Amino acid sequence: MSEKPTIQQYKQNIQDEDFKAYRCTSCGAIVAPPGACYSCGGTEMEWAEVSGKGTLIAFTVIHVAADEFQPEAPYFVAIVELAEGTRVSARLKGFDPLKPEEVPLGIPVILAYEEAKTGRNYLAFKPA
Ligand SMILES: [Zn+2]
Repeated sequence: MSEKPTIQQYKQNIQDEDFKAYRCTSCGAIVAPPGACYSCGGTEMEWAEVSGKGTLIAFTVIHVAADEFQPEAPYFVAIVELAEGTRVSARLKGFDPLKPEEVPLGIPVILAYEEAKTGRNYLAFKPA
């Protein structure tokens, strides 16, 4: 794909349930937008297909959200390390936000999407 990644297209891909990360064209590192390559500092990116596999690194439960998200609270915001090596922030499915103590860290997760009450799709992961 020769098209240069943009954050707008990145978000649109999530709406379309077609998540892609960035690949640094200098060193090949897979990078989650926005931003420069954490490996070499490069800023030239191309789209990178990813496996959708990852590891749950951390999470928090959002109880009080900005107005537009408040109808969805409480919800998880997780940090997932993709198998390709970069970390993304995403929703977490398959657990009860009111029982965060039941969520084991370090478990394998796979890409999912969560359709919010607003009709908007979010990047999400669920237990593999
Ligand atoms: Zn790089």
